[in-house]
Amino acid sequence: MQARDVRRPGHTEPMRIDLHTHSTVSDGTESPAEVVRAAHAAALDVVALTDHDSLDGLAQASAEADRIGIGFVPGIEMSARQRVFPDPDDPRGISVHIVGLWPDPADSGLQAMLARVRDARLERAQRIVALLAEDFAITWEDVAARAGGADAVGRPHVADALVDLGIVATRDEAFASLLRGGTKYFVPHFAPEVLDAVAMLRAAGAVPVFAHPGADARGHIVPTSVIESMAEAGLVGLEVDHRDHDERQRARLTRIADRLSLVRTGSSDYHGTGKLNRLGENLTAPDAFEALRAARG
Ligand code: AMP
Ligand code: ZN
Ligand code: FE
Ligand code: FE
Repeated sequence: MQARDVRRPGHTEPMRIDLHTHSTVSDGTESPAEVVRAAHAAALDVVALTDHDSLDGLAQASAEADRIGIGFVPGIEMSARQRVFPDPDDPRGISVHIVGLWPDPADSGLQAMLARVRDARLERAQRIVALLAEDFAITWEDVAARAGGADAVGRPHVADALVDLGIVATRDEAFASLLRGGTKYFVPHFAPEVLDAVAMLRAAGAVPVFAHPGADARGHIVPTSVIESMAEAGLVGLEVDHRDHDERQRARLTRIADRLSLVRTGSSDYHGTGKLNRLGENLTAPDAFEALRAARG
């Protein structure tokens, strides 16, 4: 994206920048082009598409952004794991999401890792369905119908099938009951170790931002010491302003960002109708955006 995309002559109101959204390439409910059009309709000046573990939507989203005239940042939300057991292939541990902005889609190391994680996601979704099928009338075909053409399959697709079958009323209810960590139906999937993920993103020219680092209602969050290690490994930003952070977490993360010279970002984590998150509900300040761009490889 060129500088001209981020200036609006004659406009004095701050630019509206949202750097974390999902499409049907992962677990959002709108196509990449639809997400970009929705961003335009939400009066955003810049939007990033950051599907889980897939770069598949970026070309379509970028072309649509050029067509309608909105700034676009290609991105990804990479799954990672803080290990709690020594075996590198043991999928258990604390789930960490790292948004990488401007990754090189041709980077073979990143592509290979993403393919491995997507395979693990598919196998894990099938195991979750097998466990659910012990107690509920659900089959893999029900979930496959909902995952549709998604490149990265996730629990939200299982949730959608549970809604279709009348087993739960909403995605939210599915996560609150059957799909959250700690239930008998929860299965983790392989993901790279956190510091390896940061290094892989940097090697692919991407600017890594730790996504919702304080979202403690979803499950365990990593201690501050891990954020410090990530900063040493090349982390650039911390997503402070996110729906899943209360005021206390925002204050804590702001202090950490200031101390470690990390860029403070804010984003919606939009999933279409799949979650309540609305585009632009949290924004990244223009000077923060410039700092992210300056950190590009
Ligand atoms: P997975 O990546 O398969 O482990 O599933 C996690 C995804 O589910 C994340 O992208 C979340 O955005 C989404 N998710 C988590 N909690 C909820 C919820 N309560 N309602 C809808 N989606 C959720
Ligand atoms: Zn998601
Ligand atoms: Fe996430
Ligand atoms: Fe996300």
